[in-house]
Amino acid sequence: MNRPSAILLDRDGTLIAERNYLADPAQVELLPNAVAGLLKMQQWGCPLIVITNQSGLGRGYFTQNQLDAVHAHLLHLLNSAGVKLAQIYVCPHAPDETCRCRKPLTGLVEQAVQDWRFDPRATVMIGDKACDVDLGLNVGARSLLVRTGYGHIQQNDPAVRPHAVVDDLLAAAEWIETELPR
Ligand SMILES: [Mg+2]
Ligand SMILES: [Zn+2]
Repeated sequence: MNRPSAILLDRDGTLIAERNYLADPAQVELLPNAVAGLLKMQQWGCPLIVITNQSGLGRGYFTQNQLDAVHAHLLHLLNSAGVKLAQIYVCPHAPDETCRCRKPLTGLVEQAVQDWRFDPRATVMIGDKACDVDLGLNVGARSLLVRTGYGHIQQNDPAVRPHAVVDDLLAAAEWIETELPR
């Protein structure tokens, strides 16, 4: 496999600091090295796509307007740093709604493939939890577990089987450069 056709990114604990059901734009905090990693990845010319479970919507913990405000602020922070996300795909459902889009189910990636026209087997999924790793495996991608967010705990779970465990998004970009050379 050559350089990825797209990068699939988890949001909470991977791109921004993990908060419990983040609903306030002021609480959006980019993780250390997130921008550095994303700047490296976007040099490859592949879309940077966020795939996020936001069951707080389905559970009624926050509204779509609040989520939109969080994402507007996230995009502002990233744009200010020179990073352009292609799109943020959200599963709004609670677990008991049995949707097809809650990670590790593949509905959001299938939607992204239609919108952005890439081969999911040529992507890398980066996240801090088992559902991210499993989503990557479910679509035939490479899965990287970052140690940010819940990753420092999840890395000790033998049921979580990423292709590699890396410190953060910059280390993920470096892993890709080394393991998936042009
Ligand atoms: Mg996460
Ligand atoms: Zn869903």
